[in-house]
Amino acid sequence: MQSQKLEFKVDSLKYFPKVRTSRIMFEDFDPEKIKHSLIVETGLSATMAEEIAFDIASRIRNFDLKFLSAPLIREFVCVALLEKNLEKERARYTRLGLPLYDVEKLIQAGDKENANLQHNPETIHKLAADAVFDQYALLTCLPPKLADAHISGLIHIHDLEYFATRPFCQEHDLRFFLRKGLIVDGRGVHTAVAGPAKHPEVAILHAAKALAAAQTNWAGGQGYDFFNVWLAPFVRGLPYERIKQLAQMFIYEMSQMYVARGGQTVFSSIALECAVPKIIWDVPAVLPGGKVSDSLTYEDFYEEANRLFNAIIDVYLEGDYLGKPFNFPKCEVKLRREYVESGEFEEEYLKIAKLTSKFGTPYFLNLCPDYMPDIVNSQCCRLIFSPDSDELERFRNGALRMGSLQVVTVNLPRVAYEARGDDARLFELLDYTMDLAKEVLLIKREIVRERMESGALPFCNMDCFGEPYLNLDKQVLNIGFVGLNEMLKAHINMELHEGGDAWRFGLKVIKHMVDRVNDYKEETGLRFGCIQTPAESCAHRLAMIDLRFYGDRAIVQGDRNSGAVYYTNSSHVRPSARIPLVQRINIEASFHPLTRGGAILHIWLGEGNPSPEAMWSFTKKVATQTLAAYFTYTRDLTICQNCSATSAGLLETCLTCGANSESLEHWSRITGYYQRVRGWNAGKREELRDRTRYNI
Ligand SMILES: [Zn+2]
Repeated sequence: MQSQKLEFKVDSLKYFPKVRTSRIMFEDFDPEKIKHSLIVETGLSATMAEEIAFDIASRIRNFDLKFLSAPLIREFVCVALLEKNLEKERARYTRLGLPLYDVEKLIQAGDKENANLQHNPETIHKLAADAVFDQYALLTCLPPKLADAHISGLIHIHDLEYFATRPFCQEHDLRFFLRKGLIVDGRGVHTAVAGPAKHPEVAILHAAKALAAAQTNWAGGQGYDFFNVWLAPFVRGLPYERIKQLAQMFIYEMSQMYVARGGQTVFSSIALECAVPKIIWDVPAVLPGGKVSDSLTYEDFYEEANRLFNAIIDVYLEGDYLGKPFNFPKCEVKLRREYVESGEFEEEYLKIAKLTSKFGTPYFLNLCPDYMPDIVNSQCCRLIFSPDSDELERFRNGALRMGSLQVVTVNLPRVAYEARGDDARLFELLDYTMDLAKEVLLIKREIVRERMESGALPFCNMDCFGEPYLNLDKQVLNIGFVGLNEMLKAHINMELHEGGDAWRFGLKVIKHMVDRVNDYKEETGLRFGCIQTPAESCAHRLAMIDLRFYGDRAIVQGDRNSGAVYYTNSSHVRPSARIPLVQRINIEASFHPLTRGGAILHIWLGEGNPSPEAMWSFTKKVATQTLAAYFTYTRDLTICQNCSATSAGLLETCLTCGANSESLEHWSRITGYYQRVRGWNAGKREELRDRTRYNI
């Protein structure tokens, strides 16, 4: 009886099956709905919308379909719009997403191109969402000229998947959370709110959770400056073992909270001081319970800051339960002249040197050169922030936040190919390309402003002593560059390390970029910055595109036949160049005073095991005798899945248990952090093979 009824119902529809809608409902097919959506979504006139809607209705009727869904109807309508030359309306009406085949591939195997992401349910969702938001940014946020500049590889917009929704990276002031407690959703309505920490364990957990919460609103790195200094009042009177336990707790939290951006750890960093630098001796201390002391300053916590520093380094030195190094939080160690020259912290520096030699963990932020300010922080892949006078004021008040809204990279070799050896043309094209990057950055700024106004960035909007947590006017808009070395080869037929002329011309190019960035600053009143790009994916992507378009004229590194090619990172010397280490350092460091928004110098260590003394003595030389602002030593590591042994070098057989390469994971530093080599793109893997390694 029932089935007869059902048949009768279906029969009554006659021409159209029910529509499966995006609201997961069955609805009757109704051309009026098409008409209405065309008017709302594309702004088409009612007459034109009606014409298209009824045209679609008659076509669908002719097809005699058994299955009808809203996406299918939309595809019909898009074709009809194109037939009427309504391209713009078609772009507005289109559906973003993935072919079914790609979704199945994602579910089954994840994304081989982005193997940084473990294959798990969270990353499957993230990758699907990334695909939608990449398309959305290119189709909707950017005008065709800028979208095409990215697609064609003239510029590279970093973290495109987050372009429409989040700023890039942020340095936080831990004192803010110590004073105000923790509101993880930025508003305190969705979940529990915590008051200021009274106990050291709680302070540590607040520090960890604040970064994780912030990661939901930012695409890139989240960091703390003066980490051990601001926490020093919380460890007063504790025995060293207890302090070490606290340090261990924080580092495990940051390397194990597998929650950020589709199931990864938070991209975190902490900057450490050997003790309390003179420059902040008179800053009033934030005490347990969140009170700002009216008698104690951080000078009073000199000892505690130093003990916490030692505890943190000891934890890094031990590695995790299996003896593996911690890759997050990134450990940034400041080298100040007052510390380095006094000899007061020899023991600490030898410990850091030991850690460098064992795991390559620390990054050195070098405040010794005259051009480096006293208050400066580094985080994310290599970004360096120096506060202006307003921000120094905020710093005194315990709420300094600094960050970058977005990074856009200029493809320097492309500029050279197009200039065909003509200097004037080269600089003209460079200006043109930088102007495109600037336009992208201004659009991004507008987007973040809108998102803040509409409440889509609640953590950024959180109240911070009467102002929004994200200070939009102070955020840096970064223009980066890749492949200076290949640009020089293409333009003057010399590589960066091949002589004074190349070096000078290289400096001239970057100086030109910096001057132009300064012009942008003046013209807009906004904070533009010039940085060495963290070229993790773009060094490979841009080289690949250029090889395809310029063929023999393209100067790329790596394997041209397989397409595993790359450009040399920013103004670095070609990784495979066989030149003395000191020469490499001097050339690369000479660019650091220019690229004040961010720079990094990599020293790739050979197989030797340098003594802590030799390592520290060399580091001291780099700090005091070169212009390097930020540098790090990379220790290649092999981690055995079979016996858990960690050994230096990229090995094919485990030295401990003899397991073969299938059981071995290679780890190395990619651009600004340690990562499994298996997750690297083909270009970066070639670069790893090419690197000239040095024994200290
Ligand atoms: Zn083994």
